[in-house]
Amino acid sequence: MLDLSRIPLVDQHCHGVVTGAIDGPGFEQMLTESRHPLPPGASWFDTQLGLAVRALCPPLIGLRPHASPADYLSRRAELGVEELNRRLLRSTGISDYLVDTGLEGSLLQPSEIAALSGSRAYEVVRLETIAEQVLRNGTSAAGFAAAFAEALGEATRTAVALKSIVAYRHGLDLDPARPSADEVRTAVGTWLADIDATGDDRLTDPILLRYLLWTGLETGLPLQLHTGFGDADLTLNRSDPALLTPFLRAMRPAGGAVILLHCYPYHRNAAYLAHIFPHVYVDVGLTVNYVGHRAGAVIAETLELAPFAKVLFSTDAYGLPELYAVGAALFRKHLQRLFAGWLAEDACTPADAERFARMIAGGNAGQLYHLAQ
Ligand SMILES: [Zn+2]
Repeated sequence: MLDLSRIPLVDQHCHGVVTGAIDGPGFEQMLTESRHPLPPGASWFDTQLGLAVRALCPPLIGLRPHASPADYLSRRAELGVEELNRRLLRSTGISDYLVDTGLEGSLLQPSEIAALSGSRAYEVVRLETIAEQVLRNGTSAAGFAAAFAEALGEATRTAVALKSIVAYRHGLDLDPARPSADEVRTAVGTWLADIDATGDDRLTDPILLRYLLWTGLETGLPLQLHTGFGDADLTLNRSDPALLTPFLRAMRPAGGAVILLHCYPYHRNAAYLAHIFPHVYVDVGLTVNYVGHRAGAVIAETLELAPFAKVLFSTDAYGLPELYAVGAALFRKHLQRLFAGWLAEDACTPADAERFARMIAGGNAGQLYHLAQ
């Protein structure tokens, strides 16, 4: 009998957990990628993610499954942030957390997540954040390339991967060519002039965004790319991972792996890319949480074409410890149900199913990121 309830998980893409108490509206705001309100009287709890939180999290804090949002929020507040974080993180069976530290806000750092969860945690460095810090620390157009390379070297000394949000800042329909030194210098000059004029230092220049990707590849670290749905800054049709095809072709000789994160509703396109390109991997972490009870369908569609050695588990949890608990529990439940169906139809043996589950849950990530066993 296949039992995935204890299989160790490597969460290959997640963020920190908020360190302070949050109220009900603050909690609901973290159950959505939108920054806009629902119609009067409506609640973000009435979504797939909200249902999953109510189904899975109350028993972890001493309530019955499907407790009302009001009861859940009140028990949560009573428990206190640290105890809540400890209980929910320790419920997951996650052995390793790969934490993208590029988001701002008061969030637990990788070492704090490790201490609280009793597991290992590693840092993933966000390219755009490093470039913006270099600008804030003061650099000239001519000095940027060297300053960025030095800052990236420093930031990645203990990191296991890089991350880029080029999908948010431009779109994945990129010119694949590596920019020349002249192009970089001119683009940084324009960026500095724009900052003087507007005060906004957000990096959106496609030449520089490409430069970051190419410079990142030179570190030899695996490169995680946001694709598919996300928050309101995103233009969805420009985040289809299939748009990356020219870049994936161009970068292949440089070596290095690319991990397509989130992917929905383009997870089938991402699975195709993982099928075709030897250096491409796929993850549907954020998606599993957001589609909740439909997670089985998304996992099944991803496994239609992606080789099982190229599929990775993650939660993409951000802010709420509930997102770790829900991501891990939904993944276990729906992978189990999927493989049980395959076994019932004699599509594979129990030994095959267990092997595939261990690969996707953590074995593939352990190899890709060279994690300590
Ligand atoms: Zn993320």
